Amino acid sequence: MDRLNEIKANAGSLSLVHTRDNMESILKNAELSNSTYMEFLSDIFQGETNYRHDKAKSKRIKEAGFPYIKKLDDFDLGFCKSITEKQLKQLSELTWIEGLYNLIFAGPPGVGKTHLSIALAYHACEEGYKVNYTTMQMLMQCMRTEEIDRRSKAKMNRIRKSNLLVIDEVGYLPVKDIEGNMFFQLISELQEQTSVIITTNKGFEDWTEFLGDPALATAVLDRLTYRCDKIIMNGKSYRIENRKSFLNQNKN
Ligand code: ADP
Ligand code: MG
Repeated sequence: MDRLNEIKANAGSLSLVHTRDNMESILKNAELSNSTYMEFLSDIFQGETNYRHDKAKSKRIKEAGFPYIKKLDDFDLGFCKSITEKQLKQLSELTWIEGLYNLIFAGPPGVGKTHLSIALAYHACEEGYKVNYTTMQMLMQCMRTEEIDRRSKAKMNRIRKSNLLVIDEVGYLPVKDIEGNMFFQLISELQEQTSVIITTNKGFEDWTEFLGDPALATAVLDRLTYRCDKIIMNGKSYRIENRKSFLNQNKN
């Protein structure tokens, strides 16, 4: 085996995948830029570190289960008057995740609740946090079938291990008895380890109705709101304001 292949084989057996796959260009760059031994070694380790970092980030984003990606940079504060630039900056610093704070984004359809939740959660993924996204409906389905469905079990395991859980669309559909209790159990379990973002179209006074039991609603809200900021997102629907149509309907 020649020297280059020997280096590649050794890099492979040490799981230095990036180094193995890029050995030629690493060597060429070192020659072209007259690198010192120190610079050469530094390039190898930096390249490997960056590669692993990016790979772990992509894995976290994939496992988060986002239905689509939204970014904080695309969130127009000029349109959304319910949140200030300073608040958005504070939220994007993510210290609330460290402090196990929860966020509740409440308001009518189209005001940007899901956009903001996904954007913050995506940013958290980028910063190294384990994140999971679910709708309330999907969460209920997973909890009900956890013991009999491998995919539900896997989703619930990820949810329980996450630093941040987004539960989108809470309150849109009423939950059944058993689901309300399971939801309470989950929120209790997560309390000391996971921050939760909830988006909802309901005020707290309506939680009894969709959870179906006043005692349960009080207990869930008690846990959720212990360390929590509720942001009421009022205003116009971005969808309606920016409605696009395909047909030219002018009759000439
Ligand atoms: P909600 O979850 O409150 O019903 P969404 O977050 O789904 O609303 O927003 C609806 C659409 O409008 C999405 O495509 C979203 O990206 C866009 N949108 C809403 N608010 C904003 C905003 N402030 N800046 C940019 N896009 C927005
Ligand atoms: Mg939404």
